[in-house]
Amino acid sequence: MEAPMTFAEQQDTSKSAGELSEAMREMAAAVSDEELFESLCVEPDKKDKIQKQLEKGEYLFAPERIKVKEGAADKVFELLIDAFKEHLSEKTEDWEKLGQAYRSGQIPADKLLEATLRHRWDALQGWAQKFSLDIDALQFFSLYLARPFRQQAAELLLDRTQLSAWQKGFCPVCGHNPVLGRMIGAPGRRRLWCCCCNTSWVFARIGCPFCGNQSQDQLGYLTVEEFASYRIYVCDNCKRYLKTVVHPEESDKDDWDYEREYFSAVALDPIAIREGYIAEPVWLARCEQPA
Ligand SMILES: [Zn+2]
Ligand SMILES: [Zn+2]
Repeated sequence: MEAPMTFAEQQDTSKSAGELSEAMREMAAAVSDEELFESLCVEPDKKDKIQKQLEKGEYLFAPERIKVKEGAADKVFELLIDAFKEHLSEKTEDWEKLGQAYRSGQIPADKLLEATLRHRWDALQGWAQKFSLDIDALQFFSLYLARPFRQQAAELLLDRTQLSAWQKGFCPVCGHNPVLGRMIGAPGRRRLWCCCCNTSWVFARIGCPFCGNQSQDQLGYLTVEEFASYRIYVCDNCKRYLKTVVHPEESDKDDWDYEREYFSAVALDPIAIREGYIAEPVWLARCEQPA
């Protein structure tokens, strides 16, 4: 069975990658000075507790134990719908319908946010059906609705902690799989990036971040002539792949624009899928917290 492409992969975002990532940055900046949470899962000042959790390989963000500030979801929703109308005009009809359902109170922003944070796919499907919305468009929107919340949680939780303790292939903050890799100067290491919370972390250069497979004969990469700065790292054990920026191998700078690369590289997904690899759906993908 062929894996469905994500919404980002269906869009010709490569032409507007810079514009789109700029819009996302502006949106994040518009809410960055606001506190989005009444309370977080772990008090951000409990640095020892956070460090221990990371060392044990437990990701930090627990959506069932947070409280979002009243009105915060509405504010992000309204900024986002305007940005999407402007920059993702291929789906204007969907953004109009979604905006209408929101204004009439039938898709409340806080409920859409909660469904996303808790991975309630059934709720999303219900809304898509009821309002004849493209499910992939709604999924993409909801990811970016949750993004400033997950990102702010990441900044608060990771402030002054040692992320080098984290050895897993999934995100230390929200538990999602990485969508992009980047080779860095450090030998034997690379960085993985989570688009759900904008966290990147250092990971071993060899090995599959999805299934942990380290056997060299089941690991490899695809290259595409027009995309010389990327490789698509593939795993023949789990059939997952990870698009990875290999050039230039810069020093491990923190302020690297992963988002822009992510949107630039969407054309690589159909190539990997044609070769028989599976696109890990971002919205649902999550590693269950170890017991
Ligand atoms: Zn994350
Ligand atoms: Zn694998």
